[in-house]
Amino acid sequence: MSEAEELGNWTRSHFSAEIPKKDGSSVTLMGWIRAIRKVGKLTFLQLADREGFVQVIFKGVSPQIQKKLDILQRESVIAVKGKVKINKTAPNGVEIIPSELKILNLAETPLPLEVVTQKTPADLPTRLNSRFMDLRKPEIAAIFRIKDMVVTAAREYWDKNKYIEIHSPKLMSAPSESGSNVFEVKYFKNTAYLAQSPQFYKQIMMAAGFDRVYEIAPIFRAEKHHTYRHVTEFTSMDFEISFISGLQDIMTEVENLIVYIYKHIQKNAKTELKILGKKITPPSTPFPRVTMTEAFKMIGEKFNDNDLSSDQEKLFSEACKKKFNHEFVFLTEFPWSTRPFYHMKKDATTTCSADLLYNGLEIATLAQREHRFKILMAQLKDKNMSPKALEYYLNSFKHGSPPHGGAGLGLDRIVMKMLGLENIREAVLFPRDPERLWP
Ligand code: ATP
Ligand code: MG
Repeated sequence: MSEAEELGNWTRSHFSAEIPKKDGSSVTLMGWIRAIRKVGKLTFLQLADREGFVQVIFKGVSPQIQKKLDILQRESVIAVKGKVKINKTAPNGVEIIPSELKILNLAETPLPLEVVTQKTPADLPTRLNSRFMDLRKPEIAAIFRIKDMVVTAAREYWDKNKYIEIHSPKLMSAPSESGSNVFEVKYFKNTAYLAQSPQFYKQIMMAAGFDRVYEIAPIFRAEKHHTYRHVTEFTSMDFEISFISGLQDIMTEVENLIVYIYKHIQKNAKTELKILGKKITPPSTPFPRVTMTEAFKMIGEKFNDNDLSSDQEKLFSEACKKKFNHEFVFLTEFPWSTRPFYHMKKDATTTCSADLLYNGLEIATLAQREHRFKILMAQLKDKNMSPKALEYYLNSFKHGSPPHGGAGLGLDRIVMKMLGLENIREAVLFPRDPERLWP
């Protein structure tokens, strides 16, 4: 007997969650066998697809079907034709009495991973090694369906607000941020660098007169350290807008975007949130704003133009929880010493920039950019950088760059924090880190 029959002219009539609750309806279902149970002459199959599962009950079948049932293994792919039978005690109120069965692909045993979580769940590396199997778990699939909705919501927000989506190059002739965590790649006879951000290009698009742009794309950082919040390839949601009066405009735009995403998820991800046992409520606006000087005061330490260390960040987020009872906080007025040359300066030591913290973790950096060529060149010099490699970027400031600013938001970190995941790798389909370039 064939272990991989052809589908022929069969097409799926319903996903399991869409089966009509009407006795005798004809259905054609396709999916994976999540469980097999044999009781006397009865065989119960749990047929799972991406929307849920349904019980298929074989009773008094033809010898031909019986032969197939005898060789079936869990997680094999099958197609079934049959009739609906209402059963109030069944998980979704119906079961299927089949008339035909096709084995589309028999699964090998043993399975590399159990789909139905056992008493001792597999550890993350084991799960990631067999990610295709891990993703069959409804509670894991739910994370990525919510991630899809976050992106859909962001696109929708930006489209409604007259942004233009752009696609900037990911192969660069010079690093796009600091040179310390850039990946080098062989580029014919030369060296190219993988983009660490779309920063320079979205700013060039302001000089090009596009006014409001956004990009959702992978970026790369050679982060050597193992942390719960860094991967080497992640998805950045970037935007940049022109004719701003100040950083305030960027903060408002970020707030509106986050609230829009929350409302979209609250409305559209009811099933997924239920599977994950999570509730979300759109945050109130404006989000609290704390200057760096105030932040150090709040943790009882003296501010000396430093960034918060990760320990101080923890203390600060505790203090914020008490003071504001808000999931989001803008940390503002970052010292010039900790920011890149293209951030606008507020005064000699401070920049017009902010970080957005989400339950204590940075999820975005925002800034008004320096758009005045001469000042930008002076700031570059101040950071001991050479203009040569950045000529293509700097040229765009010579011939009409409007006042502008923007933000880069980490999609994977947003999903991680929204769902209370402990490791960013849980929010990335196939994460990349110093030890993992596979699968
Ligand atoms: P961190 O200080 O946490 O390393 P960063 O300040 O270097 O972050 P930015 O250059 O401001 O990061 O990048 C914009 C956003 O991209 C960050 O706010 C964060 O949400 C996300 N991000 C940055 N680095 C990573 C990474 N290695 N993995 C996942 N997300 C990241
Ligand atoms: Mg940052």
